[in-house]
Amino acid sequence: MYEYSSTIFAETMNYARFLTAVSAARKPSPIRMLTELQQRSPPSLISLAGGAPNPSTFPFLSASIKVRHGDTVTFDEAAMKRALQYSASNGIPELLTWMKNLQKQLHNPPTASYSPENGQMDVCVTTGSQEGLCKVFEMLVNPGDNVLLDAPTYPGTLAALQPLGCNIISVPSDQHGIVPSALKEILSRWDPSQVHAPGSTAPKILYTIPNGGNPTGASLTPERKQQVYELAQQYDMLIIEDDPYYFLQFNKPLAPTFLSMDVDGRIIRTDSFSKILSSGLRIGFVTGPKPLVERVVLHIQASTMHTSTFTQLIVSQLLHSWGQEGFLQHIERVIEFYRKQRDAMICSADKWLKDVAEWHVPSAGMFLWIRLKGIADTQRLIMEKALEKEVLLVPGGVFMINSTLPCPYVRAAFSLSSPEQIDEAFRRLSLLIKEAL
Ligand code: PMP
Repeated sequence: MYEYSSTIFAETMNYARFLTAVSAARKPSPIRMLTELQQRSPPSLISLAGGAPNPSTFPFLSASIKVRHGDTVTFDEAAMKRALQYSASNGIPELLTWMKNLQKQLHNPPTASYSPENGQMDVCVTTGSQEGLCKVFEMLVNPGDNVLLDAPTYPGTLAALQPLGCNIISVPSDQHGIVPSALKEILSRWDPSQVHAPGSTAPKILYTIPNGGNPTGASLTPERKQQVYELAQQYDMLIIEDDPYYFLQFNKPLAPTFLSMDVDGRIIRTDSFSKILSSGLRIGFVTGPKPLVERVVLHIQASTMHTSTFTQLIVSQLLHSWGQEGFLQHIERVIEFYRKQRDAMICSADKWLKDVAEWHVPSAGMFLWIRLKGIADTQRLIMEKALEKEVLLVPGGVFMINSTLPCPYVRAAFSLSSPEQIDEAFRRLSLLIKEAL
């Protein structure tokens, strides 16, 4: 449906209009620029410039990490010196190249001039996708801005957004994600021809979790994505595609992403290795139009400076030893694990909760979103009574924009507990609900 185009985003999109005052004021750090220059220079360069400490004073000498189904990741003394040192704010080059190739292979953004090394898209490494999101919001959300998102949503997003003083407008959604007609209805408050007028209050960004939503488990259908993208075009909005559960889709083929249909350069995508490689290593990445990704890097420069060089190198070594094929094989094993967990949870829900609750079977992610029938608000039930029965779930209110309103939902994660534990937890939950009714 989308025509390939070779337009230069930066020429057709006026990114300046999206930036916050804070972001516009961020300047490249001269010291960081020198560090990056030094990393690209031949070893014969003698640098007295940077303030990097001497790694020969650090206590760590070498490391070796055994890998399930694969080789060992090793760091000899030289590799360790690099791993313990400062590195570029956008990420170490070999990991960036791997990520760019992955994005090209999986999403292939529809611009003829896009190539991993020399395109209009860019990628930067972040300390988990949470950092990416936080920086993207800092870059784009001014106090008083109207921001669209489909609540209930990930509390980490609300935690990053709400203190910015924006006005969050909730877009109705169902088990297939955002309802485009409802989005259209909300947007009809503004005249699309006036969104660039000075003082316009039209929303400039829409945030969504397109696969295995947290907490709802909902996944946006490709048809809806196209409709949402068209509305974003009409109102000149950016879409923040927060997709940490992309690799945990239980159906094939993997759903086409917003990034894959981005002819204009209006998608900023946050990816995460947390659910597939390690949540504690803290590796995520932001993909989007170069001018915006470069600005995200300025925000990183001023806070964390860069994601841990050590963890980037661990991941990069592993990915290079696997190759893309090995990576995708690993993903298949992870999907298989979570599919079985999901099936076990649904089986136990059918067994224990059928009369007292309802839910949709998620096609991605790690969550089941359960509505307890006849219970107006799950907050007290979970926080006070559930612990007595030794079962813990998340009361739905924490995922709402206004967490003080009553909410009849709970979120159950099928990621960590065994099928036996899930079964017992739902038996206890069913008793709890029956006693409360
Ligand atoms: N977005 C969503 C929707 C999430 O569920 C999470 C983690 N639970 C994150 C972002 C952040 O993940 P991380 O920082 O570990 O990549």
